[in-house]
Amino acid sequence: MNLQLQYLINLQKFDLRIFQIQDQLRKAPELLKSAELPLQDILAKLQVLKNSGESLVKQRRSSERELATQEEQLQKIRNRLSELKTNKEYQAHLFEIELARKKKDSIEENVLEMMERVEQNEQAVKELEEQTSEARKVFDVEKARLETHYANLANELADLDRQQTTLAELVDKPLLIRYNRLKTMRKGYAVAQLREGACGGCQLQLPPQLVAEVKRGDELMDCSYCHRILYVTRQLEEETTE
Ligand SMILES: [Zn+2]
Repeated sequence: MNLQLQYLINLQKFDLRIFQIQDQLRKAPELLKSAELPLQDILAKLQVLKNSGESLVKQRRSSERELATQEEQLQKIRNRLSELKTNKEYQAHLFEIELARKKKDSIEENVLEMMERVEQNEQAVKELEEQTSEARKVFDVEKARLETHYANLANELADLDRQQTTLAELVDKPLLIRYNRLKTMRKGYAVAQLREGACGGCQLQLPPQLVAEVKRGDELMDCSYCHRILYVTRQLEEETTE
């Protein structure tokens, strides 16, 4: 096979792998972000619970203050007993105590309910915090795995870049320009293997004369349709000449 063509085939192998790695590296931030989503999700829920927890505690404290005030109030009313003179006043006083006591009971119930709700919220926060640390562990492992993976890819890419540059220097300048133009147009596939008389790039059947010229290999031939540079592998050549 024409040595220049052999260079191009190898160059294409490097270039395709380089494309592939660059593509993966481009997607890396997105992948890392989506790996973190479950953790972010739990953290957001946890924040909501903590916020409502704070508000519940405030409500409980307010009810407790209200209860203390009401207890004081009730005591004040009871203390007035010595000032009472008539039976009527005494009846009215009993009624007033009864009202104040009922109000105190109702506030007390409220306090108990708030205490219960605060407790339930604390329990839910605790459970979610456990889930958070689980999710964080999972994410840390995945993050480390991805970072190692991408570091390896970056190393491979640097290696490939060096090899590609070295090899590209061996290719005749006009041919390299032709190759590079095709590479850009054909998403990395500038050279194509001839397969049963068809171009391996665009899959179209080629004129028999062109096929024969490619097999002879004196000159670098383009596909008539996609203009990729055509080649046959030795094995195929032998198969077809046998
Ligand atoms: Zn073609």
